[in-house]
Amino acid sequence: MDRRTDRDARAFADPCRGTDASALLARLAALRAADLPVHGGRTMAYVYDAGLTALDDLAARAQDAVAGVNGLDMTAFPSVVTLENEVVGRAARLLGGTAGTAGTFTSGGTESCLLAVLTAREHARRTRGVTDPEIVLPVTAHAAFHKAARLFGLRVVSVPVDDGFRVRPADVAAALTPRTALVVASAPSYAHGVVDPVPAVAATAAGHGVLCHVDACIGGWYLGHLRLVDDVPEPPPFDLSVPGVTSLSVDLHKYGYTPKGASVLLFQDAELRRHGWFAHASWPGYPVVNATLQGTKPAGPLAAAWAVLERVGTDGYAELSARVHRAVRQLVDGVGEIEGLRVLGEPDAALVAVASADPRVDPFVVADEMRLRGWYLQPQPAHAGSPANLHLTVTAAAADPARIAELLGELAGAVARARELGPPSVDPGLIELARGLDPDSLTPEEAGLALEAAGVGPGGALPARMAPVLAVLQALPAPLTERLLPEVVSRLYPGADARSGSGVPG
Ligand SMILES: *Cc1c(COP(=O)(O)O)cnc(C)c1O
Repeated sequence: MDRRTDRDARAFADPCRGTDASALLARLAALRAADLPVHGGRTMAYVYDAGLTALDDLAARAQDAVAGVNGLDMTAFPSVVTLENEVVGRAARLLGGTAGTAGTFTSGGTESCLLAVLTAREHARRTRGVTDPEIVLPVTAHAAFHKAARLFGLRVVSVPVDDGFRVRPADVAAALTPRTALVVASAPSYAHGVVDPVPAVAATAAGHGVLCHVDACIGGWYLGHLRLVDDVPEPPPFDLSVPGVTSLSVDLHKYGYTPKGASVLLFQDAELRRHGWFAHASWPGYPVVNATLQGTKPAGPLAAAWAVLERVGTDGYAELSARVHRAVRQLVDGVGEIEGLRVLGEPDAALVAVASADPRVDPFVVADEMRLRGWYLQPQPAHAGSPANLHLTVTAAAADPARIAELLGELAGAVARARELGPPSVDPGLIELARGLDPDSLTPEEAGLALEAAGVGPGGALPARMAPVLAVLQALPAPLTERLLPEVVSRLYPGADARSGSGVPG
C-alpha cells in the first residue's frame, strides 16, 4: 500500500534538504541587504546604536555563553538569578529605588507595560474588590497600554494633553473613578518626547489610593544618566523617588544600547510585584512560577544586557547621554532654521517630532525624500491634536556634530523637493466611500479593494513612495485603519503557500 498520503505529498512537494551552513549564512546576509541599516545613526527609529563596535562583539559572546539556558526554571539555572538581580539592582539604583524596590527583567517595553497593567488589575481586584477595572491613559500613552487593556479586559479612560503634549493633572483627577486600577504617565512619550508632569499626576493617583505607572521605556536610561552630567539642565522628575509612583518601566534595548529583548519593570516593593506573577500547581507537570508572560525564556538577552551594562558603566552612559543631549539641541535648533518645518512641543529627551509649517510641504513626502537620501525618519500620522509629523530618535551613533549637520542639510534638501512635489492627492470620493464601510462587517474582498485603492499591492507589496498610502490611511477613521493594517501584514505572511525561494545550493 502506498503510504504517501495527500499530506505527505504536500510536504514532499517542497522538501527541506539539509543545506550547507555557509550557503545559509550567505543567504542571511543577502536578505539583510534589503533591511534598513542598524548602525551608523541614519536609521532614526527602531534601532539604537552606541557607535561602539566592541560592544556588539561582547554582547554576541555573552549571548553565546548562555545559549541553551532556560530562564523558565531559575532553580535549575541559578546564573539567571544572579544576572537578573544585578541588572534590576542597577536599574533600581539609577531610577530612584530604595532598599525595598523590586523588579523583573522582561523581553521588552511592551511586556513591561503589559505586566504593569496586569499587576495593577490584580492588585485592584484583590485589595479593593474592583471587578470592572479602568486604566487612565493620556492620549499620548504608548500603544502597549491599549494592547494591555485589550488583552486583560480593562476599560481605557482617555485623557487629553495640553498644547505642549503633556497631560494635565486636573484632567487625570477628573478621569479617576472607584474602578480605576492604574494611571499612566510617560517619561517621555514616544511620539513627542515630552515628559508628563509626573509629581502632580502621581500625587493625584496616590490621593485616590490608585497605582501610578511611569512609562520610562524609552527615556529612563537616557534621562537617568543625563542627570549625572554637570553642565546640562536637570531633566524633569520622573522616577520611583517621586511620591506616588508605584511602578516604572525602562528598556535596556533602547538607550542601554543592549541587544533586543531587554527591559526592566520596577515596583515600589515585592508585595506589589507578586500580584502580576502566575503560579500554578494544579496540573500533572512541573510547578510553575512565571514572573513574565513567557514560559521557556532565553537567557541570551539577559546575559547580553548584563554584559553591556557592566562594560559601559555609569560614567560611560553619562557620557553617551551628554553627547546625545548636545546632538538633540543642535537638531532642534537646526530644524527651527529650515523654512517649512517646526518641532512639536519642547522635547525633554532624545526624541524629536518634526511637523510641517508650510501646507505645500507634506511631512510624509519629506520622509520619502529622506529615504532616497539614505535616512529613515518615522512617519507619525495626525492624531488627537497632533499633526502629521516625522519622528527622529537620536542615538549615540548619530550624536556627532558633523553627522547632525549632514542630517540637517539633507532635511533642507528634502523639504525643498517636497515643496516642489506638493502633498499627495487623496481622492475625496474614495475617502467618502471608505468612511461608509463598517470595519466589523468588511469582507476580505472588500478589504482587498480598499487596500488596492490605497496603493497596496496584492502580495502586501508597498510602493517605494509611502506618502500617498499614509495620506489615505490618515484620512480614514481609526477603526477602519485598524481593520486594514492586519490585512496588509497578513498578505506578507501567506503561511503554507509560502515557498522557500532560497535558490541555495543544497
Ligand atoms: C518603545 C516604547 C514602548 C514599548 O517598548 P518595546 O520595547 O517596543 O516593546 C513603550 N513605551 C514607550 C514610551 C516606548 O518608547
